[in-house]
Amino acid sequence: MAELEGPEFGKADFVLLDEVTMEQFLENLRLRFSQGRIYTYIGEVVVAVNPYRALALYGPPVVERYRGRELYERPPHLFALADAAYKAMKRRAKDTCIVISGESGAGKTEASKYIMQYIAAITNPTQRAEVERVKNVLLKSNCVLEAFGNAKTNRNDNSSRFGKYMDINFDFKGDPTGGHIHNYLLEKSRVLQQQPGERNFHAFYQLLLGAPPELLATLHLCPDPAAYRYTQEGTRGSACGDDAGGYRAVEEAMGVIGFSPEEMGSVRRILATILHLAAVVEDTAVVEDTAQLSALAELTATAPDNLRQALLSRTVAAGGGELIEKGHSPKEAAYARDACAKAVYERLFCWIVGRINASIAARGYDARLHGKSTVIGVLDIYGFEIFDTNSFEQFCINYCNEKLQQLFIELILRQEQAEYQREGIAWQNIEYFSNEPIVELVEQPHRGILALLDEACLAVGTVTDPLFLASMDTRLRHHPHYTSRKLCPTDKTMEFDRDFRIKHYAGDVTYSVEGFLDKNKDTLFQDFKRLFYNSADPVLRAMWPDGEQSITEVTKRPLTTGTLFKNSIVALVENLASKEPYYVRCIKPNDQKSPTLFDEERCRHQVSYLGLLENVRVRRAGFAYRQPYDRFLQRYKMTCEYTWPNHLMATDREATQALLEQHGFQDDVAYGHTKVFIRTPRTLFSLEQERAQLI
Ligand code: ADP
Ligand code: MG
Repeated sequence: MAELEGPEFGKADFVLLDEVTMEQFLENLRLRFSQGRIYTYIGEVVVAVNPYRALALYGPPVVERYRGRELYERPPHLFALADAAYKAMKRRAKDTCIVISGESGAGKTEASKYIMQYIAAITNPTQRAEVERVKNVLLKSNCVLEAFGNAKTNRNDNSSRFGKYMDINFDFKGDPTGGHIHNYLLEKSRVLQQQPGERNFHAFYQLLLGAPPELLATLHLCPDPAAYRYTQEGTRGSACGDDAGGYRAVEEAMGVIGFSPEEMGSVRRILATILHLAAVVEDTAVVEDTAQLSALAELTATAPDNLRQALLSRTVAAGGGELIEKGHSPKEAAYARDACAKAVYERLFCWIVGRINASIAARGYDARLHGKSTVIGVLDIYGFEIFDTNSFEQFCINYCNEKLQQLFIELILRQEQAEYQREGIAWQNIEYFSNEPIVELVEQPHRGILALLDEACLAVGTVTDPLFLASMDTRLRHHPHYTSRKLCPTDKTMEFDRDFRIKHYAGDVTYSVEGFLDKNKDTLFQDFKRLFYNSADPVLRAMWPDGEQSITEVTKRPLTTGTLFKNSIVALVENLASKEPYYVRCIKPNDQKSPTLFDEERCRHQVSYLGLLENVRVRRAGFAYRQPYDRFLQRYKMTCEYTWPNHLMATDREATQALLEQHGFQDDVAYGHTKVFIRTPRTLFSLEQERAQLI
């Protein structure tokens, strides 16, 4: 019983609050946070507050305390949730997923790492070599993905700038045999530019500050991030982390994953290429520096003439299948160069993810011999973002959060309600906010914002961002979640011809349409694609399969960024919905990264938009625990004379009733058609105690 928490630690489950009010919820959260109890349940949902300090909560002894235990047997913890997902996967052969949500800096990525660590710790007791290898790759992949996909932002020194969903495959013994990572919408505009105080992706600084001088010399680089335009901003203000140490850790991790020395060489050359690109076209003037150009040609293993041509001009199809070379204006050249730098980085990132996947592809798994392979998916994806200026990226990210919230509402709230109805248990309806209209506003075919954006991108003639805004104003003027300055002229917080506002479930967000068309079209001239496709570097070449087409063949327009993103999120949500979900809801206690400050207003806002109070209400209106009668009896029949060793009653339900009445729990339970429902965790715990004394 020492394991259980006393009342001085607050309520371990928000279901046990005296009253479900925001004040009580926050008070409980604050009390627990101040004592380092950062995890609290709502039923099976883990609410986690970022402690902003190292807590002794994750070592091997803690793993042992949670291994194979039930949720309610130990204080709330991510490990308990991971174990529940693992048990569901192993015992009931259910595919499960763990969805981690919360805003930037709330602790999602750390949580996902602890969950992976736990799963790695409790599997492969027989130390099978191949399973160990897969586990190592899964664990090491974080280090590499963070180097290339994370950056210092003003909210988080190690902020993930991409969404990640990782499937882990398990064999019939419950050991990991493979995995697959999906990545979502890397914030590639960061390659070119960062907000004051922010940095580019870690990988650039790691290379410049960590690589040995001889190596840097072969890349024509100097060990000073301030010397390169794309990394300049990040050198202002305080440095962050140990980039040199990071460089070595990433090299080591890439080795463990199975990147060959040649592949690692290509990756470094591609990073160097991007840094050099900034210098060949300086602002709006083309620098014809032959040394620069030949360095770039060497790094990309391309012909200098072709490289020069791709930087300074583009090929266009004239009438009659004739091709002509059209010179760029300096402005066009700078634009093309930027598009190229972004695209090269994005393809590098995707190639790295693909390379990791190849190394952990569930291979050699024969379903006929070993039965079905089961999966645990872990989703760590960007949370809701409201910045001073919100652009296309925030629009996509917030849309994604709407979709995930919708899934949360559907799965947790509706499922719960549906089960009571199915089981014939009285249920008072709970009003909850449905965000379906907002999702529709964004994604509806022909009428939603993404469709209007695509329409604007496809239109012939010059369509500008303000024209796109005007088209939204006309077509969406009656939508209750959409507004703009034109529709609401008195609202001076929006600018004419620039801003529109969406009433998100998490609050109002004003977006600037500036750059929407460009970012959605995401044009990269075929000349660059062909250039890299013809590179003698096999890694670089492999990233540009679409460079094979000649300009005359490139007639079909590629899907836009917005549509591709929507498709990937729709697929993600379908995938999650097909699995048994477990949720971690992360809360950021303050914006100062302080381990002691509990900013009540910030927390109130998060609790409210994460729908946590509704979540508690549903659990309370309902019952914390439920089990089919036969399973319940199997576990507890020894605690009652009428049911031990076997009951003689007509049904399991009657036997369960007799058992619970003998213990005096009749007021805390309800009897459904197939399951018994128990309102409070305490009842179940007493039963567990009885049982433990008897076996
Ligand atoms: P997110 O992925 O939600 O943006 P992170 O997981 O990167 O946030 O967490 C941000 C920072 O907060 C981490 O770099 C770490 O310093 C701190 N942090 C988060 N979770 C924990 C934890 N459980 N224990 C200690 N520090 C944490
Ligand atoms: Mg993160």
